[in-house]
Amino acid sequence: EDIILEAVDLKRHFVTKKPLFGEPTVVRAVDGVSLRIRRGETFAIVGESGCGKSTLARVLVRLIDPDEGAVIYEGRDIAALADAEMRSLRRDLQFIFQDPFSSLNPRMTVGALIGEPLKAHGIGTPGERRARVAELLSRVGLRPEHADRYPHEFSGGQRQRIGIARALATGPKLVIGDEPVSALDVSIQAQVVNILQDLKDEFGLTLVVIAHDLAVIRHMSDRVAVMYLGEVVEVAPAAELFDTPRHPYTEALVAAIPLPKVGARRAGARVAGDPPNPIAPPPGCRFHPRCAYAVDRCRTERPGLHPAGEGREVACHRAEELQLAGLGDAEGGR
Ligand code: SF4
Ligand code: MG
Repeated sequence: EDIILEAVDLKRHFVTKKPLFGEPTVVRAVDGVSLRIRRGETFAIVGESGCGKSTLARVLVRLIDPDEGAVIYEGRDIAALADAEMRSLRRDLQFIFQDPFSSLNPRMTVGALIGEPLKAHGIGTPGERRARVAELLSRVGLRPEHADRYPHEFSGGQRQRIGIARALATGPKLVIGDEPVSALDVSIQAQVVNILQDLKDEFGLTLVVIAHDLAVIRHMSDRVAVMYLGEVVEVAPAAELFDTPRHPYTEALVAAIPLPKVGARRAGARVAGDPPNPIAPPPGCRFHPRCAYAVDRCRTERPGLHPAGEGREVACHRAEELQLAGLGDAEGGR
């Protein structure tokens, strides 16, 4: 197994600025996450908003520091590196932001935006950088003459292509996209996903994609990690996760994927119960207030992530005995 990036028991908590009832409020955004990402795979991290997936994504490439834990990249803990060392590793580890509009400086031309990381790392002469920018623009389906224009002159989908070109400029080895298509029209999403997949193959990248919508990552990811309230509750190869989920929360997320038939709806298409609150996670299994299968033990004892078959891990006391419904069942049998 060739692991490019490993997270070891990562924790990142935030203290909110406005204390409630006089007490500072701690948000446990990432609360003990361990993951192993394989070189060359597309690894998806999914969960509802507030589950900590965006924070985890930023900690994985050290856009923010963890409070505890390690992030091992090529044998080194990048969470412990000095800033100067981290700056040189930034060439390898790049990030695509959710909202391409707010992440691109509106006063810079597209050419300057895409060329900026090259300049920052002292890569190439000005002429070579211009040529590289032109090449990157064509790779993402834009035209070299677009280099002289400004972000506001482009559609949302085009701006995300610009964000992708910028992330790829330095020839990174691993790219993390934080909901890279969720701000886009559904009709544009597939185009951008296809561009990402093509570029991943072409550049030999490892791709980590953060998503709240399982439908988006279903066909593009090799493996999927499901997050709930700061924890990973299941990891599995994508096809198996969708066909035979082992965690009740995964089952609920899979049930929420719209059926291909127009107007068709699966029963229980939303995850029932209150949305997760990372300020006061419940004791025991954090999913227990919303879990249809909860038993007494679930309310007091926290389940850890355990191996559950080839390449699979699950954190549920009842994973062995439950027979959960997957997409395969729903599409084939009903
Ligand atoms: Fe549900 Fe219990 Fe499993 Fe948690 S541990 S997901 S509450 S069955
Ligand atoms: Mg987010």
